[in-house]
Amino acid sequence: MHSQREMIIQALPNALQQPVRDLMTAPGFDATIAKQSVKALSDASGLDESQLKLALLPLAASFSYTPISKFNVGAIVTGKSGKLYFGANMEFTGAQLGQTVHAEQSAISHAWIKGETAITNITINYSPCGHCRQFMNELDCASEFDIQLPDHAPQPLHYYLPDSFGPKDLDVTEGLMHPTSHDYSLDQQHPLLQRAVDAANMSHAPYTGDHSGIAIELANGKVFIGSYAENAAFNPSLPPLQVALSQVLIHGFQFSDIQSVALVEASGGAISHLADTQATLDVIDPDIPLIYTNI
Ligand SMILES: [Zn+2]
Repeated sequence: MHSQREMIIQALPNALQQPVRDLMTAPGFDATIAKQSVKALSDASGLDESQLKLALLPLAASFSYTPISKFNVGAIVTGKSGKLYFGANMEFTGAQLGQTVHAEQSAISHAWIKGETAITNITINYSPCGHCRQFMNELDCASEFDIQLPDHAPQPLHYYLPDSFGPKDLDVTEGLMHPTSHDYSLDQQHPLLQRAVDAANMSHAPYTGDHSGIAIELANGKVFIGSYAENAAFNPSLPPLQVALSQVLIHGFQFSDIQSVALVEASGGAISHLADTQATLDVIDPDIPLIYTNI
């Protein structure tokens, strides 16, 4: 096991160490914890769910990739289903800072990509920055979840973001994570592009119409997808590549495992992710092939 992660496990309360080790070393561990496992961990440790998530935060943060800041942030989201989703921050040497992914964005997009339509809580090891407060205000469930920080009482988003600007100010009624299918299809047989189309179909781009999605194929054949998550304030928008790269890391893989990438975008959108996607991939490895098509 990842030696840093094992050290974190050894610092957990005794009753949690082996069950958490078993979970995280299980084949196919996907950086989520099922509702029944959450209960089992709570029962074993005597910690309530909130305390348990705080205890697990360093494990989420162990998936961070921070070559510039060396500042690791972990986030754990509770989905509407009761399942927990890990998230961690990610940055890229050589790319502009707008390509950075914050832990809150990572955990929320993780839950979204795996089919959650709302979250009930996000637990973070540092206070959310202004960018993330705005990102979270885009959620369909923005008024319905709590933010839990170490040594603070849980609070709703509006406690951290009073007098907010959000989708409703631009007459958008369906926020991020709202169940959506844009019904795009592909007029060619191409499995990786098809996965990117699947991602584009659930993307949230009400301000530009740039419904877009990414599929990343690893050398072992595994595919991770990312859907575009747009924001009413524009800048905290999360590009599809960032969502997919975050999935790669949070599942325990490396950028060096990436074999090829597919990007699809709706025709006629007001923006394009093509140049930024290419630029970010270039700093990861200029030899990664990028397949691109409009839908
Ligand atoms: Zn942030």
